[in-house]
Amino acid sequence: MFVGLRRLARRAASLLGLAVLAAGVTLDAAQPSDWIFVPIVLLLAALITVRAWRRAHSVDFKRSRDMELGALAMLAAQAVALHVDHQTSGPTHALLYVAIGLVSAFAHPLATVAVTLGALGFEALLQATAFGGVVTSELGRHAAFTSAIASINMLSLRLEIARLRNASRSELFAERERILEEARNYRLLRPVAASEPEGGREDERLFRSGVEEIQLSVLFALRLLRECLGVHTAILLWLNESGTQLRVSELVSDGDDQELSEGPFSARDGILGAVLSQRTPVSLSDLKPSFVLPYYANGCPVQTVCGVPVFEHGQLRGVLVVDRRESKAFRPEEEELCEQAARFAARAIENERVFLQLERTRVEQGKLYRAAERLGSATSEEDVVEAGVSSASEIAAVNFAAFTSFEPNDQSHLIRAVRGGLATKLEGRRFPSNAGLVSMALQNRHPLPYRGEYDPTHQMVFARDLAPPDMPSLLVLPLVVHDEPFGTLVLGSNTPQAFDEAARGLLDVLASHLAVSLSNARMVRRLEEQATTDGLTGLLNKRAMLTAAEQKLSGARRFGRPLSVLICDIDHFKRVNDTYGHDVGDVVIKALAQVHQREKRVTDAVARFGGEEFVTICEQTDADGALLLAERIRDEFKRTTFHANGEEVHCTCSIGIATFPGFGRTWDELFKSADDALYVSKRGGRDRSTIWDPKLRDHSAA
Ligand code: GH3
Ligand code: MG
Ligand code: MG
Repeated sequence: MFVGLRRLARRAASLLGLAVLAAGVTLDAAQPSDWIFVPIVLLLAALITVRAWRRAHSVDFKRSRDMELGALAMLAAQAVALHVDHQTSGPTHALLYVAIGLVSAFAHPLATVAVTLGALGFEALLQATAFGGVVTSELGRHAAFTSAIASINMLSLRLEIARLRNASRSELFAERERILEEARNYRLLRPVAASEPEGGREDERLFRSGVEEIQLSVLFALRLLRECLGVHTAILLWLNESGTQLRVSELVSDGDDQELSEGPFSARDGILGAVLSQRTPVSLSDLKPSFVLPYYANGCPVQTVCGVPVFEHGQLRGVLVVDRRESKAFRPEEEELCEQAARFAARAIENERVFLQLERTRVEQGKLYRAAERLGSATSEEDVVEAGVSSASEIAAVNFAAFTSFEPNDQSHLIRAVRGGLATKLEGRRFPSNAGLVSMALQNRHPLPYRGEYDPTHQMVFARDLAPPDMPSLLVLPLVVHDEPFGTLVLGSNTPQAFDEAARGLLDVLASHLAVSLSNARMVRRLEEQATTDGLTGLLNKRAMLTAAEQKLSGARRFGRPLSVLICDIDHFKRVNDTYGHDVGDVVIKALAQVHQREKRVTDAVARFGGEEFVTICEQTDADGALLLAERIRDEFKRTTFHANGEEVHCTCSIGIATFPGFGRTWDELFKSADDALYVSKRGGRDRSTIWDPKLRDHSAA
């Protein structure tokens, strides 16, 4: 608020400043005077310098600042033009075009439009006030020129920027493709990850450094060969994945760039084809300039050449070639040196591959470790699902996640939580076991779809009428603990093939962690429920009620609100037990619990306090309100019919009521008062409600 006001004040001040300067210029136009002109121009020059300096040194772009700077520039141009020409369309008027050209070159387009309109408006004002009336034709001409200059400038500048941006983007893309291609050829890269630009940021950094390391090692080996054997060119050519073409991996040469060809070259023809097909070194000498050595672009500058195959674990991977200008055949020990260099290069590539594998494993383990940590610290089912989804997002590009739980009794699935799309449509929906991916994944205890090949047009995920959002990738992970089906985690992604083999492996491990954490969370919830609820009725137990009572009472004290306590006890319950048995007694107790549940308000807390006694705490309720509730409970219970031994059985209950603050300030006092009131109800003939009254103390004592 304060910042907003300050900004408004600053803007108003600069507008006022501009208006004063414009008035000065108008005055000077009407009656030219150096006493006005010189200070105004100096002031404008100073302001323009300061504003331009600030703009050049700030990182963010503000339209208002551009607008102010543009207005100052136009005003300065107008001031000089008027002072020199004594009219609005003299020869110096061209200064305004220079100014608008400048403004349109640097300012935001909107600022340029605003400044252009402002300048024309000011000119009209000048004509009207200082030069005896607006000259429409002149103004129109100026408007046409100004807007033409501004728009041509703006457009050409923006086009040029777009062109440069596109050029550098495609250059970057080409460079990335080249590195990817090399990484693929060196088999540093998993084929799927290469086609998946979003998910593989970490991978990209890794294989980029891998390719660079390989290039350094190979370069070292080639330089060594050149020094030892006195060769013209030493070149390592690497086979592509399909083995049809050879690419230059690295080369050192005394020849210039024009002499050399970039490739790729056919893996079948000429000396390269011979080395590859015979899998042995091939040496040739006395070559003619017409001899075809594919890596030379314009004829063969060398007379001797030797190519050796490069193997990796017996697999042919490329060719290492050295050549000499002079006709001096490579001796067997020189050939041997070349073969050693080829082995060195192959080992460098192999080392890098192992290193990358280790690095990848380290990264993956880090992800799983963080997932385990998150899952470990989540105690509620909701937190576990949340932790599971965020961990999955770290492994793959997840845009949709759903957690379903399985109910073995009726063989149904319940969609419990949904993240990212269609949540309101799916959450809380139940569907029977069917041929959908969720049911099948849980039945087979295996992630589906098989190999991650998801086809939304043919595969059903939840049920016919319950489909996830349209996505090209989807994975259903079964959650199973001790062979018990628990539910599933459904992940979806807008990235095609988001769940590649590597991701599926990690997500599978994540799912087993998740299942264990979910079953723990469920157990914790059950234990908590058991600790706070009564087994027979599902109401709060006495301990939980005492905690709730303290909380509610301190709230009532703090805000000075009334609070009432009801104690309800079944009349002659021993008789029910004795006549019809304990089981019937239990049914009656449960029925009274349900009556309480139905009649109470949401904010009221009801507990079974032991035996057939119930305690209710009603917040913001005075004695009269509590009596209404008590009478409703008593009436409904009385009207309830039970059946035992072929007879209809009816029961009644008695209720005592005490209210804070009048009838007690602590819980013990209040409870005692309510109990006294209950006693009065019993003594008075049962089947009634009594509000505690000070007079009762004497009664109960009697
Ligand atoms: P009064 O009208 O004075 O309350 O008479 P009453 O017979 O109901 O007396 P009281 O409230 O003292 O009786 C409590 C009886 O409730 C004792 C016990 O047999 C029975 N009871 C306590 N807990 C349970 C229970 O969980 N199930 C059943 N069936 N009976 C219970
Ligand atoms: Mg009783
Ligand atoms: Mg009792």
